[in-house]
Amino acid sequence: PVRVRFAPSPTGPLHIGGVRTALFNYLFAKKHNGIFVLRIEDTDQNRYVEGAEDYIIDALNWCHIPYDEGPGKEGDCGPYRQSERKSMYKQYALDLIEKGAAYYAFDTAQELQTARENAEAKKETFIYNHNNRNDFTNSLTLTSSEVEERIARGDDYVIRFKPELKTLHMFDEIRKGIEIDTSLIDDKVLFKSDGMPTYHLANVVDDHDMKISHVIRGEEWLPSMALHVLLYESFGWERPKFAHLPLILKPTGKGKLSKRDGDKMGFSVFPLEWKDPKSGELSTGFKQDGFLPETMINILAFLGWNPGTEQEIFSLEELVQAFSLEKVNSSGAKYDPEKAKWFQQQWYVAQDDAVIGAAFAKALEEKGIDYGSQEYVNIVCGLVKERAVFTEDLFELAGFFFTAPDSYDEKAAKKAWKDDTTSIMTDVIKIIEDCTDDSATGLSNAIKGWITSQEMGFGKVMMPLRLSLVGSLMGPDVFEIASMIGKNETIARIQHAIE
Ligand code: GLU
Repeated sequence: PVRVRFAPSPTGPLHIGGVRTALFNYLFAKKHNGIFVLRIEDTDQNRYVEGAEDYIIDALNWCHIPYDEGPGKEGDCGPYRQSERKSMYKQYALDLIEKGAAYYAFDTAQELQTARENAEAKKETFIYNHNNRNDFTNSLTLTSSEVEERIARGDDYVIRFKPELKTLHMFDEIRKGIEIDTSLIDDKVLFKSDGMPTYHLANVVDDHDMKISHVIRGEEWLPSMALHVLLYESFGWERPKFAHLPLILKPTGKGKLSKRDGDKMGFSVFPLEWKDPKSGELSTGFKQDGFLPETMINILAFLGWNPGTEQEIFSLEELVQAFSLEKVNSSGAKYDPEKAKWFQQQWYVAQDDAVIGAAFAKALEEKGIDYGSQEYVNIVCGLVKERAVFTEDLFELAGFFFTAPDSYDEKAAKKAWKDDTTSIMTDVIKIIEDCTDDSATGLSNAIKGWITSQEMGFGKVMMPLRLSLVGSLMGPDVFEIASMIGKNETIARIQHAIE
């Protein structure tokens, strides 16, 4: 059975790359009727950030990609926080020592520092591996009684991996066959002197213990794949399938997308707003920027994947159907904030008027604007939504349905209001007063009929009429506006413009 996991470390807010990894795991799981696990990798106490775990869970929920097993949703493989699994890791490290695939190392921080400096002096990078492990203080160079004695007296030690030297053949579902000369790998620390496992040990042990079938994660973990595969071999465990997702690149395509790119260009890289608990710095999120969760999912799906057809707009259900690892690219995916807005616009227009209307009514209320009835707001939204990308845009596109313009666009006024306009508009007021049908068609027939009878150009009335009602020359059909705000308000606005 397919079991996949998203395994973030709670070191801060999830950025869109993290959400993309979660999404692809979710899609793969649902496509294969599998299970999507959330595992919190919090073994590194120094990097733990308050609130990060809640943020991760909130973000997944907001995107509608909930996990099946994880913190708060216990399954057979829990607990799902590594800090709560702490007691089990050491035994695994000891097992590897017994199998000859790991060893104790007693080198002090000072000794390792000196080794690093010596290597630097020779313009080399220090790696602790098969070339020099015999120069150090470890269970390969000490006798077993010396090792026992040191442990008994409480000396600090770590447990290091001893990779088998060979050409390792690996397969990545996205990158295909990979070969690695394992003599290049260092003797990674698996278990630390503070009694905690390192990421590598905990990650592999948990993936095995949680029966993970496919490890789908970001490209930054590709360099760790060989070590992980060697660990599976040393334990004698079947390895899961691996798939490393491509990097998400800056809009320019040069380098990895970072928060700074967003700050510079005015877009968010986080799904939700995040307040850093230490600095108090507040970062915006897709949600607060006005994006719909459907949009976020659609944007992320296309970062590294495509369906191989022309279709670009996908609901979550459609993505589940269409998704496959074969269609994930290995090359980096550029993040394009303009394209993100395009996706949002597509999703926004597709929303029911009532859905948009409810959000807009709430926003109007927050600004203290009286909106009449919900039904009225819904109709307004239907008239203007084609041009909106975010709910926020509706204030500009439709504000005049609720409040009279408090100023007139200068350029528009110059264009619309001529010497004879005041007298013409005074006549128009009379036409409106006399009109018995105040529907959009009724008003349109009355006014257009009058214009024709006067043998006047349409612009001479239509432009100043629009200017009076809207404050600019934009907006939907002017008779639709007049009918919506009503005869009295229409007349009052024209009167105000005349004065
Ligand atoms: N804890 C790692 C992270 O923060 C997990 C990497 C993996 O999925 O193996 O990304």
